[in-house]
Amino acid sequence: MSQPIASTDRAVRAAARTADRSDPRTIAAGAGVRADAAFRAVMPPLYLSATYAYDEVGVKPPCDYSRTNNPTRAIFAKAVAELEGGAGAVVVSSGMAAVDLVLHLLIADDLVVAPHDCYGGTRRLLNARARRGDIYVEYVDFTDEAAFDAALEKGPKLVLIETPSNPLLRITDLAAAIRKAHAAGALTAVDNTFLSPVLQRPIERGADFVIHSTTKYLNGHSDVVGGAVVAKDAAKVEELAWWANCIGSTASPFDSWLSLRGLRTLPLRLAAQEENARRAAEALDDHPAVAKVYYPGLASHPGHAIAARQQDGFGAILSFELKGGFAASKRFLESLSIFSIAASVGGVESLACHPWSVTHAGIPEEERREAGITEGLIRLSLGVEAARDILADLALGLEAAEAEAAAA
Ligand SMILES: *Cc1c(COP(=O)(O)O)cnc(C)c1O
Repeated sequence: MSQPIASTDRAVRAAARTADRSDPRTIAAGAGVRADAAFRAVMPPLYLSATYAYDEVGVKPPCDYSRTNNPTRAIFAKAVAELEGGAGAVVVSSGMAAVDLVLHLLIADDLVVAPHDCYGGTRRLLNARARRGDIYVEYVDFTDEAAFDAALEKGPKLVLIETPSNPLLRITDLAAAIRKAHAAGALTAVDNTFLSPVLQRPIERGADFVIHSTTKYLNGHSDVVGGAVVAKDAAKVEELAWWANCIGSTASPFDSWLSLRGLRTLPLRLAAQEENARRAAEALDDHPAVAKVYYPGLASHPGHAIAARQQDGFGAILSFELKGGFAASKRFLESLSIFSIAASVGGVESLACHPWSVTHAGIPEEERREAGITEGLIRLSLGVEAARDILADLALGLEAAEAEAAAA
C-alpha cells in the first residue's frame, strides 16, 4: 500500500494480518478487497480487456491475454481455492468443462472409476469419451465395498467421487474411499457441488482435486453457468491451467465477476437454506402422503452417521417419494407457488424437480427403478425464502397430492 497510514492504524492492521483468516465468511467477504492499486477501489473491478500491453518488449506483463489469465477470474479462482484448502483453482465455463478438464490429465486407455449414480452430464461425458476409445470407464456403487474394491483392482488412473449423490443423497465415506483409491495408485477427484466448501472440504480428506459446478451454490443466484477445479498440489494447478488455456475453456471475466459477487454471501445463504431444508425434511417425514424422505440430516438416512462425521452440515437438497406415483407428483408440483418446477440446485430461489421425467429421463426405465428413481420421487433445492412460506407451500402441494391419490 503506497498511502501513509497512522501508526495505530498500522498496528491494528498488523494484528489483523496475524489473525486466523480461515473462516469461510472472512475469505468470501474479503476476496480481492482493496486489490486495486490504480484507484484503491475497495471492491475488485471487472477487467473485460481481452489483451494487455507490454511495457517492455520481452518482459511479459502479469496478464497478457484473457483466455490465459484475467485479473477478475484470478480473484474468483483464488477465493475458491482458499475455501477448499487447495493450492489453486482453474475457473472454467461450466461444471461440465470442469469435469472435462480433469479428464484432460488422463492418457489413452486410462481407466476411470465413477459412481453408478453420478451426475447425468458426467456419465454422458465419460461414456462419450469411452465410446471414442479415449478412456475406459467402470461404474460402481460406492456404498458396496466389495464392488468398489473389485473396481480398484483393475488399476484406475482416476477415481471420481460424488457425495452426497443426486437425487437420493447417498453418502460416500470420503477418507476411506480416497485412501483405498490412492493405495490402488489412482488420483481422486471429488465433485463437491452439492455441499460447497462451507459444508465439506474433500482436500482435507486427502482428495487430489475438487470439482464444482459454480452454477449451483458458489454463484448461488442461478444467473451464471460456470465451473471450477481446485487442486491440492501447485503442479497439478499448473497442469490444469495449461489445459484450460490450450482448449480455451476458461470462464469469461463477466461470469467470473458475477460468481465472485455471489460467492461473498455463500456461508450466509447456505445457513439459511440448510435451516429451510431441515424444516422441510421434518415436515415431509411427518406427512401421510409421503412414503420416504431422503435427507442425510434425518437419523433414518443410511448415510447419516458418515455425513455427520465428514460434513459441517447436511446441505439444502432433499428428495422424497410421494405415495401416489406420477399423478400425485404432477399434482404436487403444479400446486406449488413458492417453488419453481425446474432442474438445477443451489440458488437463492426454491426449486422442485421431477427426476423421473427430467434429469433422469434418458436412463432406461428398469435402471431408473433399480436406482430408486420412481414416478413419485421429487427433489427439492431449498432457497432462502421464509421457512413459514416454504412449509405452507409444501403443505398445499401435499394436500393436492393426497387428494389425487385418494381419487385414483
Ligand atoms: C450441475 C452439475 C454439474 C454440471 O455443471 P454445469 O454447470 O451445469 O455444467 C456437475 N456435477 C454436479 C453434481 C452438478 O449438480
